[in-house]
Amino acid sequence: MPKPKDPHTIAVANGIATDKTFRAVTPPIYLSSTFAFDGYEKSGAYEYTRTANPSRDMLADTLAKLEGGAGAAVVCSGMAAVDVVLAQVSKGGLVVAPHDCYGGTYRLLETRQRSGQIDLVFVDQGDKTALSAALARSPALVLIETPSNPLMRVVDIKAIATQAKKAGAKVAVDNTFLSPALQRPIALGADFVIHSTTKYLNGHSDVVGGAVIAAAAADAEAIAEWVNIVGVTGAPFDAYLTLRGLRTLFARIERQQANAVSIADFLQNHKLVRVVHYPGLPSHPGYAIARAQQAGSGAMLSFELAGDTEAVRAFVEAIEVFTLAESLGGVESLIAHPATMTHAKMGVEARRVAGISDSLLRLSVGLEAESDLLAGLEAGFTAISNRR
Ligand code: PLP
Repeated sequence: MPKPKDPHTIAVANGIATDKTFRAVTPPIYLSSTFAFDGYEKSGAYEYTRTANPSRDMLADTLAKLEGGAGAAVVCSGMAAVDVVLAQVSKGGLVVAPHDCYGGTYRLLETRQRSGQIDLVFVDQGDKTALSAALARSPALVLIETPSNPLMRVVDIKAIATQAKKAGAKVAVDNTFLSPALQRPIALGADFVIHSTTKYLNGHSDVVGGAVIAAAAADAEAIAEWVNIVGVTGAPFDAYLTLRGLRTLFARIERQQANAVSIADFLQNHKLVRVVHYPGLPSHPGYAIARAQQAGSGAMLSFELAGDTEAVRAFVEAIEVFTLAESLGGVESLIAHPATMTHAKMGVEARRVAGISDSLLRLSVGLEAESDLLAGLEAGFTAISNRR
């Protein structure tokens, strides 16, 4: 048996030079919505793009290999990916979700609960007592998001997966913040890995997409069937672009992470910063778990400004290089204010419970020069100081 390829090689080379028609080195894009039958009652390898498409399959195959899964479904957004996993839960089944998950996931979970499709409990999954109490209610699914958005809380995937399996639950991990370059949840016991491919996997902020990778072949088949039934499969053009972005995943994330480490260090020592949330800092509560289950700390971080909402306004309006925008994981650096942007829909009380304050800012650190990024942040701090 050939030796399994290193993930670096899979990302760069999966599907390269496999075109039989013209020997194109880069896999060609198939935009066609439909494929001709070979004859009466004789379909070819492909029939209709909602069901399957060669360009989308190439991306799915690469993602499944990178995450170590049996198969993957490529869908039209990260939210669709979360929803596809929720749709696997039988009516009324209990979902245990993190109390500080991405705001869109929170809204989706609450909406599905309100319509009676699932039962739901949000817990702080770092709180062993709370988690055990939730698992004692025999959930159908445990959803994990680590590091969490935006507080960068880290939970132990292997420990939670082991406990959840004993309780009879399936385990899904949203791996958007790290990507398979830095964390591989299936190897830690997850049944499903969820991605917003909009973020690091595509990496260029020009596609909205998602993916679900299943550990077991039966789950992969069930998901492929469901995404076809509801028609949430991703567009071939988006799949082509995402695979193009994915080729440089490891190189991008390595450089972006190096910038994030410098920024975390800079912020940690700044008098106008109350606290920095970055799993690469030894002071981070999840540092030890992150070291054990992650291959790096990633390029996302958040921090609390020492100041009121006017200080936040002054900072985000004066900051340079970072763009005030939602999303993350692109080559360019972004800053977001979760309370008024990504997590606004969560509501004041849920944000309070999760610990998302009005002075929290989230950074997606890009590939710009470290010196320019630090100077860009300093411009924001200077604006706060000048106000006083
Ligand atoms: N999961 C996480 C952790 C996210 O941060 C996001 C979006 O920010 C999503 C899922 C949803 O992805 P999309 O915006 O592609 O629907």
